[in-house]
Amino acid sequence: VRCAVPILFTLVVIILNPDITLSQDNNMLLSSRAEQLVQTALRDQKGYFWLKELCAIGPRLSGSQNSLQAIAWAEKTMRHSGWDRVWLQQVMVPNWKRGLREQAMISRSSFFLKKQLAIAALGGSVGTSAAGICASVIEVKSLAEIDSLKEKAKGKIIFLNRSFDRSKFNPNDSYGGAVDQRTRGAARAGRVGAVAVLVRSVTSKYDNAPHTGVMYYEENGTRIPAATVGQIDADFLSSALLQEPNLELTLRLSCKINPDTISYNVIGEIAGSEFPEEIIVVGGHFDSWDLGCGAHDDGGGCIQAMEVLDLFRRLAIKPKRTIRCVLFMDEEQHQTGAERYIAWCDSAGQKHLAAMESDRGVLTPRGFNVDADSLVLIKIQSWQKILEPTGIDWIRAGGSGADVGKIKGAKALLGYVPDSQRYYDFHHSANDVFEAVHPRELELGTAAMAMLVFLLSEEGL
Ligand SMILES: [Zn+2]
Repeated sequence: VRCAVPILFTLVVIILNPDITLSQDNNMLLSSRAEQLVQTALRDQKGYFWLKELCAIGPRLSGSQNSLQAIAWAEKTMRHSGWDRVWLQQVMVPNWKRGLREQAMISRSSFFLKKQLAIAALGGSVGTSAAGICASVIEVKSLAEIDSLKEKAKGKIIFLNRSFDRSKFNPNDSYGGAVDQRTRGAARAGRVGAVAVLVRSVTSKYDNAPHTGVMYYEENGTRIPAATVGQIDADFLSSALLQEPNLELTLRLSCKINPDTISYNVIGEIAGSEFPEEIIVVGGHFDSWDLGCGAHDDGGGCIQAMEVLDLFRRLAIKPKRTIRCVLFMDEEQHQTGAERYIAWCDSAGQKHLAAMESDRGVLTPRGFNVDADSLVLIKIQSWQKILEPTGIDWIRAGGSGADVGKIKGAKALLGYVPDSQRYYDFHHSANDVFEAVHPRELELGTAAMAMLVFLLSEEGL
C-alpha cells in the first residue's frame, strides 16, 4: 500500500505529460547510440591505423615537404571515406627550417671541456654563424631577472632555468608557469645585449629530450639565437656553473627563417539532412613540431576529427546538420590556417552552430570545455549522462582551442579534454611518436567527440 501512491503519481504525471516518456525513450536511444559509437571505435581502431599511416610520413612542420605530403594523404583519405565534399584551402604559412647542425658544447673549462648538451633550436629562431657563438653563461630563473642584469648580460649566453612546477595538479598550469622563458626569453635577453639564450625544456618527464616550441622576437628588437636544453643537461649545466662560473659554451645552430610559403587547410564535410546551412566544425591542427612526428600534438586530434565523420558513414548516421572536419595548418607558429578559414567563412556567409577542437593529446577522455552563454552551457551539460559510456565525466565552462577559439558567432565553442597528466612528457619533443599513443585512449576520445557532435546535430542549441 505504501508503494502505491508514488507509482500512481508517476503514472498520472506520465499520462498528463507524454513528453517525459518520449524524452526517456529518446535518452535510451541516445545512450545506445553512445554505446554503439564506443564499441565500433574500439573494435575497428580505424583512426589508430590512420594515425600510423600519417606518422609514417614524418613530422609536419609548417611549410615543409612532409606537411604537403601529409595534406595529400588527408585529402585522399577523406575522399575514400565517402563524404559529400572535400577540398583544400590555400594559406600562406611560415617556413622556418631547423637545419642539420645543432650543437652546444662546453668549450672553455677545467673540468667539463667538450661536454655536449642535448639541445634543439626553438621554432622561429635565427641561426648562428658556422663557427658558432662562444660566450660565458649567466643562469636566471625569470624574464625580470634578465632585465635586472643590464650591462652584465652584454656578450653573454643567458640560461633560463626555471623548472616546470611539478607540485601543481594540472600540468597545464605548470606549463603556463614556465613557458614564457621559451616564448619571450630571447626577445628580453636581446634587449640587454645577450648573444644567445638556452632555455630549460618545459616538460613533466625527467629525461634529456629537448622540447622545442615557438618563440617570438619583438618587432624591431635584436634577434638572438634561442635553443632549448633537455632537463638532465639543464641540471648538469646549472651545477657546472656553480663549480666553475666562468666556463664558456659554444652554440651552433643552422636553423633559418625562410620566406612564407604556400600550404593548405584540409576540409571535408557531410551535408546536413534537415539544416545543411548550420555547420558543426570538428577539427585539430595538422602542422606539428619536427622532433617527433606530432602523434599526440596534434596528429591524433586531427585523426579523431576525421574519424568522427567516418564513424557517421560507417554507422549510416545521417546528421541533421552539416558536420565539417577542418584540419588547420600552422597552429604552432602563427595560426594563419585558422585565420584563413575564418576569413573565408565570413566572406562566404558560413554560419556555425558549434565548433569543437581536439588539441590536448589523445589520452583517456575526461570532459569537454564549453565556451558559450550560460543557457547553452546548461543544455550541453544536460547531455553529460548520455556521454558517460564514452568516458566523459564532466562538461564545464572553459576555453576551446587556439584554432576554433577564433570562430565568432558560433553558439558554442568546445574543447575536448583528455587526461593531461602525461601530455607534457611528449609535447614538442622526440617522445611524440606513434608508439606513445594507445589505441583505446585515442578511440574512446573519438567516440566521445562523435557522440557530442551527434547530439549537437540532432538536438541543436
Ligand atoms: Zn597542438
